[in-house]
This record gives sequence, C-alpha cells and structure tokens, in this order.
Amino acid sequence: MGNTGSVKAEGSAEGRGPGGIEGLVAGLGGGVLRPGDAGYEGARRLWNGMVDKRPAAIARCATPEDVRRALRFARGAGLEVAVRGGGHSIAGASSCDGGLMVDLSPMRGVRVDPARRTARAEPGVLLGGFDAATQAHGLATTMGVNSDTGIAGLTLGGGLGRLGRSVGLACDNLLAAEVVLADGRSVRASEEENPDLLWGLRGGGGNFGIVTAFEYRLHPLGPTVLGGMLLWDWSAARDAMRHYAAFCAAAPDEVDALGVLLTGPDGAPMFAVSAFCAGPVARGEPALRPLREDGPRPAQDLVGPVAYTALQASADGLFPRGRRYHWKSHFLPGLEDAAIDALLDLFARVPSPMSVLGLQQAGGAIARVPTDATAYANRGAAFDCIPIAIWEDPARDAANVAWSRAVWEAMRPFATGGVYVNNLGEEGEERIRAAYGANYARLAALKAKYDPTNLFRLNQNIRPAA
Ligand SMILES: Cc1cc2nc3c(=O)[nH]c(=O)nc-3n(C[C@H](O)[C@H](O)[C@H](O)COP(=O)(O)OP(=O)(O)OC[C@H]3O[C@@H](n4cnc5c(N)ncnc54)[C@H](O)[C@@H]3O)c2cc1C
Repeated sequence: MGNTGSVKAEGSAEGRGPGGIEGLVAGLGGGVLRPGDAGYEGARRLWNGMVDKRPAAIARCATPEDVRRALRFARGAGLEVAVRGGGHSIAGASSCDGGLMVDLSPMRGVRVDPARRTARAEPGVLLGGFDAATQAHGLATTMGVNSDTGIAGLTLGGGLGRLGRSVGLACDNLLAAEVVLADGRSVRASEEENPDLLWGLRGGGGNFGIVTAFEYRLHPLGPTVLGGMLLWDWSAARDAMRHYAAFCAAAPDEVDALGVLLTGPDGAPMFAVSAFCAGPVARGEPALRPLREDGPRPAQDLVGPVAYTALQASADGLFPRGRRYHWKSHFLPGLEDAAIDALLDLFARVPSPMSVLGLQQAGGAIARVPTDATAYANRGAAFDCIPIAIWEDPARDAANVAWSRAVWEAMRPFATGGVYVNNLGEEGEERIRAAYGANYARLAALKAKYDPTNLFRLNQNIRPAA
C-alpha cells in the first residue's frame, strides 16, 4: 500500500476561491460531501467493515469533467487522493483519512453494442449491473463472482471469474479505456492510442490514472446456462476435494469449478463446488457429469439450468457490506493431497461460522496469454486459494485475523509464490512485486511516465522508476 497517513488540508483546501473547497462544491455536478453532511457517513464506508477512514471531502463525480475538477482541487490543496469505484478493496485503498475521496459511484452507465459485441461501462458500475445489461443481449464477458463488486477495481487488477478459463480475464477483454491522468489530461488507451497505457491498465491497478470509461469485448452466452452448487458433508469432504482436484486438472476450458469450504446451516462444515459450463446447457451436461457422478456422492446436487445473472449473484449472501473481513491469498500450481489435508485441518478450527475458504479456478485461456502481454502476471496458476475470515464482533478481530493468517502460512509450501493483486491487503512492497513478477520494472517505468509524482498512491502502489 502507499502512504496512507492523514494529510492536512493545506493551501486553498479551505479557501473560498474557485480553486478552494467552495469552488469545488459549486462546480461539481455530483456534489461534495464533508463531515457532518447528510450522506457523508454512508459514502465514506467501504465494503470491509474493518476499514474506518474519514476523508476531508468526498467528491461525488458524475462526469469525467467532475473527475478533472476534483483532481485539480486535490492537487491545488495538496490533498491525498483516494479513488472509489465499487468500494470492494480488501485493503480499504479506496478511502483515506483527511484526503479527498474521488467517488465514482454516481457514474453507472452501461451501453452495449450488440452488433460489434462490445460494451462501454462507466467506473461506478457494479458487476450485477454490468451482467444484466450485457445478458439482455445474450452476451457477457468475464467478471467476478460477487455481483456487488465494482467493475473498475476488478478489471484494473485483472478480473478472475467464471468465464476466465474460456475467454480470459476481465482485463484481457478490455479493448480501450478513457483515463484522466495525474496532470489533468484526458486520454484514450487502446491498441491504437497510448497502447503502453492500455498494457498497464490490464492488471496494473489504479496506478496510472482515473478510468472514466471501460470498453469491453463481449461473447455470446446463455442467458440460461448449466451451473449451481454441489455440497458434500464433512465426512466425505476429503474424498470430495481430491475428486474435485482431479476433475479440475482435466476439465475443458469452458468449465469453471469454484471450490469452497463453508459452514452449513446446521453448524457443520461442508465442502461445496459452484460448477458452471460456459456453453449451451446440452454441452454442459457431459462436461459437468464427471464431477457430479464419478466421485463421492454429494449430499446435495443443485446443478441445473439457471440464468447466468442468477448464478453470478448466487454467493452474494456470503459477503454483505459492512461485516468485518480479513482476506489473504496465494496462487497454487495445483491441489496436492497434502494441501487438501492442511486446508481441512484448518477449516475444522475456523473461529467464525461466517468464514469461508475459497479455491478459485484459473488456467485455460488465462494461461494462454503470454506473461508480458499485459501487466497481469502469474498466468500459470491453477487456483487462487483465499481464506476469508468473516465476523461481526470487533472483540473477535484477533482470533479471526489469526485464522486467515494461519491458513496462509500453512499453504506457503504449496504456493507458486505469486499473488493476485486484488486479493492483497496492506502486505508491503515485496508482495506487490510478487503480483507482477517480471512485469514490475516495466510498470515502474510506465508509472514514471504517466504519474511521476505518484499522485495515485492509495492502491497496491508501484513506485515511479527513478
Ligand atoms: C466479496 C468479494 C468478492 C470478490 N470476488 C472477486 C472475483 O471473483 N474475481 C476477482 O478478480 N476479484 C474479486 N474480488 C476482488 C476485487 O476484484 C477487488 O476488491 C477490486 O478492487 C474491487 O473493485 P472495486 O471497484 O469494487 O473496488 P474499490 O475499492 O472501489 O477500488 C479498488 C482499487 O481500485 C482503484 N480504482 C477503483 N476505481 C478506479 C478507477 N476508475 N480508476 C482508477 N483506479 C480505480 C481504487 O483506488 C483502489 O485502489 C472480490 C472482492 C470482494 C470483496
């Protein structure tokens, strides 16, 4: 993470001139919220209830011009800048203490061009809104697995999801972006214009500017697909996880199988898989059959024809806004028996029944993109292993944080050493470098070109090359 210390409003931040806060209030279409204003408390909150930061002001941006104005104000006032898309940052990077939050949540437009199979989406759009707009035309592209997540942070960090193995990451499907740079210029990044910037936006996070529009490639899908949950009782969990590992290793690209250890409604732990096939329902049946029928019999098999948008929202209940979360991940090259044993052992001791331990499948089309083709590295991983501690009582913080750290430590010997940048907390520069591997030096040079003063530093920060 960058320097998150609070910065006092200086210069014209308190002033009444056009460059001061009153000028910003008068000029911003979306409005400005300050402590004490109605709506400030709700707007400063992020998804993770562990984050409790108080910006000096929240610029509610409704247009790219609002974004430019907000940046001009922050630069003039010497304020730190936090950029908020959907507010799902695990680390709480999209808010700040004492600085300016550039809140993009009012920018929620999505325009689909069914003939070109593209969509243009604004940065406040959430996954559910994006999927609904594209599915209205029988189209989709890769997004994550919680419909409340923002497309902006997700895409800029990479974007793993159910379609990733068949069509690549969200960032692989990013055709172009409109960006407000640190110096206030608006530019377009595409294969034709500023292609180096597009390269950096495909996984390099919010380091290079504020994206005010994303243009995606879409693919035909559904709207009805084959998917749903399979659940195994704890007594069968070890065999089921081994069966799952073998199934994933041989699965065709259009199959995605998201494994999860969770606590069932009766308080007993279970192993579950959210299975999906990105083809017609008839092709999904034989593709998912080995998982459903060749291993230990699931206690519940809920796989069937389902609307893709419903499948995408099916896990939303696990991750409500405002709960306390601690999240730490590793990429795995595969799922060895010893790793399964360690995961089961640690999940048996999970302190909160709300917590889950996810195995997000990767590979397929994600792995076929060369590592240097985009900022996103770590393309060879088979799974992202994510222990997610979830609880409500602040008095239980230590026990829950300790659990997710213990899982992370136990999985170290089985991990690739790489990490998904969007699953990082405040873990330091070494882990950010682990997210980018050999691409880090090129990203640092790009940062020096597009944001030499590191204005955009409240993120998984790439320092400008000297
Ligand atoms: C419940 C849950 C489920 C998730 N599931 C998945 C998943 O399936 N797949 C996956 O890939 N990830 C997943 N994630 C991780 C997710 O990708 C990140 O949390 C991501 O940062 C969320 O984006 P956001 O816009 O909501 O976040 P924000 O908190 O708004 O922003 C995250 C970061 O991006 C920057 N940023 C945001 N908008 C812009 C912009 N327009 N221009 C420049 N910088 C910007 C922010 O400054 C911040 O540093 C999940 C997260 C949660 C909490």
